[in-house]
Amino acid sequence: VETTNAPPAPARERHDELVEKIRAHREAYYQQDAPLVSDSEYDALFQELELLEARYPILAGQDSPTQEVGGEVSAAFAPVTHASRMYSLEDVFSLEELDAWLERAGANANRLHPQIPVRWLCEVKIDGLALNLTYRDGKLVRAATRGDGTTGEDVTHNALTIADIPQQLAGSGWPAEFEVRGEVFIATEDFNAYNEALIEQGKAPLANPRNAAAGSLRQKDPEQTAKRPLRMFVHGLGRSRDFPITEQSQAYELMRGWGLPVSPYGRVVESLAQVRDFIAEHGEKRHELIHDIDGIVVKVDDLSTQEQLGYTSRVPRWAVAYKYPPEEVHTKLLDIQVQV
Ligand code: NAD
Repeated sequence: VETTNAPPAPARERHDELVEKIRAHREAYYQQDAPLVSDSEYDALFQELELLEARYPILAGQDSPTQEVGGEVSAAFAPVTHASRMYSLEDVFSLEELDAWLERAGANANRLHPQIPVRWLCEVKIDGLALNLTYRDGKLVRAATRGDGTTGEDVTHNALTIADIPQQLAGSGWPAEFEVRGEVFIATEDFNAYNEALIEQGKAPLANPRNAAAGSLRQKDPEQTAKRPLRMFVHGLGRSRDFPITEQSQAYELMRGWGLPVSPYGRVVESLAQVRDFIAEHGEKRHELIHDIDGIVVKVDDLSTQEQLGYTSRVPRWAVAYKYPPEEVHTKLLDIQVQV
């Protein structure tokens, strides 16, 4: 790969064009909760941009979408600065790319901590939207969307209407103050029932569970949010000082005990072959899960290794998202006119 080349005019023009398109799609997806194109079409544009910037690094300025966590803060909500930054995830689209990623991260982890065998935390990638919960003395004090990763939107009143989110943690031993991140979603069964009710009332059904969840959480009026069947599973920690743990999977066990909703689908494995088994297994039964997924997330389970591997401006270096190939969606509801 030539990296020092000045980009020729067509490359610059294509770069400008891709940036403009990606920005417009992000605006529709994150601000309006109403995407203009499918996720795989968006992913293809983003991948093309990444490849172009790998070829001509000078194009990868700080304001490129490849350097930012997508999503801005709508003026409709009060801004909240997260105690620790929220990130996106690096995507891979083939098993070969995934193996290469895991081998590289595994080698880096081994170099940092030769005495700790690398264990991989495999999870399903929930197709919803991220929410950051802050607990102080066991009490929920704030809920905020991811926004641009640094600043999110205050949706505390809306989050308080979600039954899965405890307002007071159970048990004891929680850190005095900590952030826990998770994904808000609408379960497939609830989504179908909700849409059937809308159709019976002669109303237009919602297009898909992800956008319905995002639109529902980002309502101005919490009473409207309360009417939507929102759920949540936690999938990470934010600022979490005084958390007496060494692995993320261990944090989940503690959080489960405190009444936080932990996904039933995660598993810690020790080899790349076992990661592949997890992917194959969940690929086959992806429609049997209670919610939509758009891939699998594989994380280094050890928290000190996570900390040392660190982050780029957009993604952690200790986690990766494997995206399943796009599939045709056939549901009973999609046979009728669906308003996008
Ligand atoms: P992402 O959705 O690919 O990955 C990051 C997010 O995954 C995290 O913020 C977290 O909220 C979520 N997540 C779900 N399960 C998780 C788990 N188990 N562990 C950790 N995180 C988990 O990245 P992104 O930056 O939020 O957005 C890109 C996604 O949004 C892509 O899938 C893209 O296709 C879609 N998108 C689509 C359009 C469109 O126009 N269709 C526009 C923008 C983005």
